[in-house]
Amino acid sequence: MSRFLSKKLSSLEAYTPGEQPRDKKYIKLNTNEFPYPPAPDVVAAVNADEMRALRLYPDPTGAELKARLAEVYGVGSENVFISNGSDDILNFSFMAFCENGAAYADITYGFYPVFAELYGINSKIIPLKSDLTLDVDEFCRTDSTCVIANPNAPTGLAISLEDVERIVSANENRVVVVDEAYVDFGGESAVSLTKKYKNLLVCQTYSKSRGMAGARLGFAIGDAALIADLELIKYSTNPYNLDRLTLAAGVAALSDGSRLYYAEKQSELMATRERTTAALTAIGAEVIPSLANFIFVKIPSIDGAELNAKLRERGILVRHFKTERIKDYNRISIGTPEEMATLVCEIEKIIGERK
Ligand code: PMP
Repeated sequence: MSRFLSKKLSSLEAYTPGEQPRDKKYIKLNTNEFPYPPAPDVVAAVNADEMRALRLYPDPTGAELKARLAEVYGVGSENVFISNGSDDILNFSFMAFCENGAAYADITYGFYPVFAELYGINSKIIPLKSDLTLDVDEFCRTDSTCVIANPNAPTGLAISLEDVERIVSANENRVVVVDEAYVDFGGESAVSLTKKYKNLLVCQTYSKSRGMAGARLGFAIGDAALIADLELIKYSTNPYNLDRLTLAAGVAALSDGSRLYYAEKQSELMATRERTTAALTAIGAEVIPSLANFIFVKIPSIDGAELNAKLRERGILVRHFKTERIKDYNRISIGTPEEMATLVCEIEKIIGERK
């Protein structure tokens, strides 16, 4: 750290992204990426013509992509915000809507406390219940802006649409941000509620269910006034925060053919998740029933950090968090059926060595 850094930033603890290894080839189940490539229309859209057009700035309004998203999600263009990954939208939301503090779970997406610290926002931490489900009643009682990942990460557990509505209606004077990064793997989206509630902002991403984590594209749906607030921040920081290639890819991912492709691949992934859950349970693992593209797994006889290290030695990367409450678990992204078969086989061997 240089002596020039602002004092208020000197104690900031940054978010640690999952490892992107370059040393050797791993089975990579540590950052919840989609195991399949983007749809063929996406690949075709990022072509030589688009490359040549890089000479020009992209459309800062992203009008075409917004219009398509609006059509697909049954809202107006004025209800859609697009940005550089949903992290960008969460960042803007903490900046814009959390003057009165931010309420979020103790076990949830690790970026929320980082944003809160970055902007000097008071955090109201609402512990998950003993079964690791969200304490909906406590979110109904808070006086802070609510930020909820649904399904939650890293547990994979979701709350019902009725519970989301309960939280949103109990907090009419505060924004409720529902982070739906993982909703396309069996969760219930709250997008329909954005028509009824002016305080609800729903964020989604192309990173998890559309195989485009590398493109950095997220979007939010909400009341036009909330979207205008986010635009205010975007135009006060970086109006061109989405490049031409990503905008083109984002539109192509919404073609009829792409939507069919993604629906099929998402179903395949959910089937792999259920098979993996059953196979791991059969060999003695405890697996939390997940509605996301990952599972949260504990092997009763093996320490969480040790399992993580042993899998790494065997060429498989999964994610371990040191937080006391979940240190016995590993979060394992759902890969291809072959990758998951290898994972189960290696975990079985590790358990076997223990006996
Ligand atoms: N929300 C949650 C709950 C996540 O796990 C992630 C991925 N790390 C994100 C948001 C951010 O995703 P992205 O910026 O790639 O859209």
